Amino acid sequence: MSVKDHIAQAVDRLADDLEALSRLIHDTPELAYEEVKAAGWLCDFLGKQGFKVEAGVAGVETAFRATIETGDGPTVAILCEYDALPGIGHACGHNAIAAAGAGAGGALAAVRGQLPPGRIVVLGTPAEEGGGGKIRLIRGGVFAGVDAAMMVHGFDRWSPHMDLLGIVRVTFEFTGKAAHASADPWEGVNALDAVIQTFNNVSMLRQQVRPEARIHGIVTHGGAAPNIIPEFAACTFYVRAPRLDDMWALHKRVIACGEGAARATGATLRIVENENAYEPMRRNDTLLGLYRANLAALGVAEAPEIRERAGSSDIGNVSQVVPAIQPMFKIAPDGTPIHSRDFEAAAVTPLARQGICAAATAMAMTSYDLLADPALVARARAEFDAARP
Ligand SMILES: [Zn+2]
Ligand SMILES: [Zn+2]
Repeated sequence: MSVKDHIAQAVDRLADDLEALSRLIHDTPELAYEEVKAAGWLCDFLGKQGFKVEAGVAGVETAFRATIETGDGPTVAILCEYDALPGIGHACGHNAIAAAGAGAGGALAAVRGQLPPGRIVVLGTPAEEGGGGKIRLIRGGVFAGVDAAMMVHGFDRWSPHMDLLGIVRVTFEFTGKAAHASADPWEGVNALDAVIQTFNNVSMLRQQVRPEARIHGIVTHGGAAPNIIPEFAACTFYVRAPRLDDMWALHKRVIACGEGAARATGATLRIVENENAYEPMRRNDTLLGLYRANLAALGVAEAPEIRERAGSSDIGNVSQVVPAIQPMFKIAPDGTPIHSRDFEAAAVTPLARQGICAAATAMAMTSYDLLADPALVARARAEFDAARP
């Protein structure tokens, strides 16, 4: 029997435990950076499989790193997410991501005696839904020395790759001068006008941007009462683009929209930047090819890649520092959208269990491929270096 056969058998043996782990996390939804129980259960599971477990890494309490080492060789990271959404629980199915990552780790631990030299690191990455957990882990050096990273994300079909847009948030705060809006309006400086002018500028900019870019905003403060010239007004925009350099170039143009509005109205502008920009996904066909071959060998048929309806995720940031993939795995019936109550319900069905087991097996086999042939790691790295961010 080959090592890959042993990997598949190990996942079969672990399947009941993985399903239980997935359900436990699902039925105990914890929001970003509050995933104390989920992280604890995952650490316990991985510890039992023989991993050396560090709970809390890079100053992030609900992050963890679980390592098995078989000698000097490539380091492969398998990522788990486990944060829930406010109000709708595990409607993004991160419980299934966690179980798939833990299952891949468990299977590799089970065959550790047959693993070529290297390191398998299962990383617990909290707060994907807006908190940018992976960004903190990157800044904390957790990905230094990682040669390849992979995770899977639940979806309504198997798809090897989904484009992710980079996203940067920017808030404009305008300060004007209050005055009676009827008696002495000429004494005032209208901060709301600056907000409205910013939206007008952005609307005109929109015609001159590429169709795959997105700019969308809301007014967060628009004044206190109609009889007062608003002395303070503010708005927040999200700027998204499929390439890092395009995203930052567009961000600059959106900032100019606010600056122009300030100049036109005489209001003072304070720009509040969000430092946790989610970066676009840099694809890696070397890693994708290995994963897809393993999945095909398991008899899983894939749907086409998802290139048009892109969201954003902090796995994009990981993909900009190391070769990384995030294939979609099927945990819900066709047509079930993520972030819906139906998806939340689907994330603990027998279909989700099947998805978790197949994705765990394919990730474990792909990790094995990388340890067995370090030339593949070098090829993934060369592709990463040559790719446009
Ligand atoms: Zn989500
Ligand atoms: Zn998600």
